[in-house]
Amino acid sequence: MKKFILLVFINCSLFIGNCSFAQQSDSIIIKHIYDEALKSKISYKNLEYLCKKIGGRLTGSPQAAAAVAYTYQVMNNMGLDSVWLQDVTVPVWVRGPKEHANITSSILGSKELSICAIGSSIGTGYDGIYAKVIEVKSDKELDSLAHIKVQGSKSNVQNLIEGRIVFFNRAADQTEMSTFSAYGGSVGHRYGGASQAAKFGAIGVIVRSATVGDENNPHTGNMHYNENYNKIPAVCVSTAHADLLDDWISTDPNLILFIKTECKTLKDTKSFNVIGQIKGSEHHDEYITVGGHLDSWDLGEGAQDDGTGAIQSIEVLRLYKALNLKPSHTIRAVMFIDEEIAQSGGRAYFANALKFKEKHIAAIESDRGGFTPQGFSIDATKEVSDKIISWSKLFLPYGLFNFSEKGGGTDIDFLKKLNVPLLGLVPDSQRYFECHHSSNDVFETVNRRELQLGSASMASFIYLIDKYGL
Ligand SMILES: [Zn+2]
Repeated sequence: MKKFILLVFINCSLFIGNCSFAQQSDSIIIKHIYDEALKSKISYKNLEYLCKKIGGRLTGSPQAAAAVAYTYQVMNNMGLDSVWLQDVTVPVWVRGPKEHANITSSILGSKELSICAIGSSIGTGYDGIYAKVIEVKSDKELDSLAHIKVQGSKSNVQNLIEGRIVFFNRAADQTEMSTFSAYGGSVGHRYGGASQAAKFGAIGVIVRSATVGDENNPHTGNMHYNENYNKIPAVCVSTAHADLLDDWISTDPNLILFIKTECKTLKDTKSFNVIGQIKGSEHHDEYITVGGHLDSWDLGEGAQDDGTGAIQSIEVLRLYKALNLKPSHTIRAVMFIDEEIAQSGGRAYFANALKFKEKHIAAIESDRGGFTPQGFSIDATKEVSDKIISWSKLFLPYGLFNFSEKGGGTDIDFLKKLNVPLLGLVPDSQRYFECHHSSNDVFETVNRRELQLGSASMASFIYLIDKYGL
């Protein structure tokens, strides 16, 4: 017995570097990953640079180009096996000078409203638009106001929408525990409301910001025109001023709203996804992708959406390098461009995977902010989901408990066509929509430890996927 113990001791001491490391259990490796992440300030500094030196990064803007150059440089300096730019053609929408809106009432006076143009909207032009406002809270209400029956007549129908500005005032449901569900339930009019209203002859729309937050900043986002109807200007109003407008309309339904926006869509331009990778030791032509999106809205600094996801993805590779972990499969960090407007970065990544017949083992996205991670959403077969969930107990010490949500992420979702298992980092969502798509989305809202817990969670999951497969 003594002899045996002595032999094992000698054996291990001969290979102290590799042998002892390889024999450590998964929980010990995961602890190393979290320890290294929590001690490091590197990715927090990188995020600060992205937010403070580059700032908001609308797709196709000079800031987006600077973010491509910056993240390329960061990954290039890490000693990765390869770093490259992947061509993407992206749309270009420019906001123009700060937007203005005010309401004028013969009863209540006048008041400036806190608004912003919605992404992809046409502008009102320099002179702006003036009109009476008609408020609706649902599609049904919009439809009924366009088809008001005139009393005493069977055929005569009046349209109260025509020539007006429609005010879509559907509030996010505060009772939802996931603020993403609350957002999902309220964002429809921002996206499609302009065409819904144009169908009935409206000349513009003003939409309550899609957020559970209660402040006076407007939250932008993207929209889409239905080609069958006139394109009309669309703006978002802060939730505080949506409530104020609602109040004023109930006192004076004849008040006049003025809106001035000078945004426009320019010609498409060239941009890039930025990709860095560590080559797999055994299966170098099989890939695990981790990514976030590099573009952001322009009102803030694109910190939580999605500077954190992009920088966390780079951090996953840095953790591998720092701990000298040698993956069996190739691990890629991808900074996707143009998530916010046309998702052309995600499409290009998928098109390349298809073209070069790449085998993708799994893809993980972080695009829900850099708050304390609580788990992962999963989009995979039951068998694969069960395997992922079987690892979840390893993450209880780090606060991860939620593996019940479905989905991956907007950029990686295209890979689903190749049957790639998808995961999405799920952080605490309670503060995210205070920042989302608004001037509040700044570096100061990001906590270094929360950011790093997200990076470590993704790196640890990738470690398990790489070791055991899916
Ligand atoms: Zn995002």
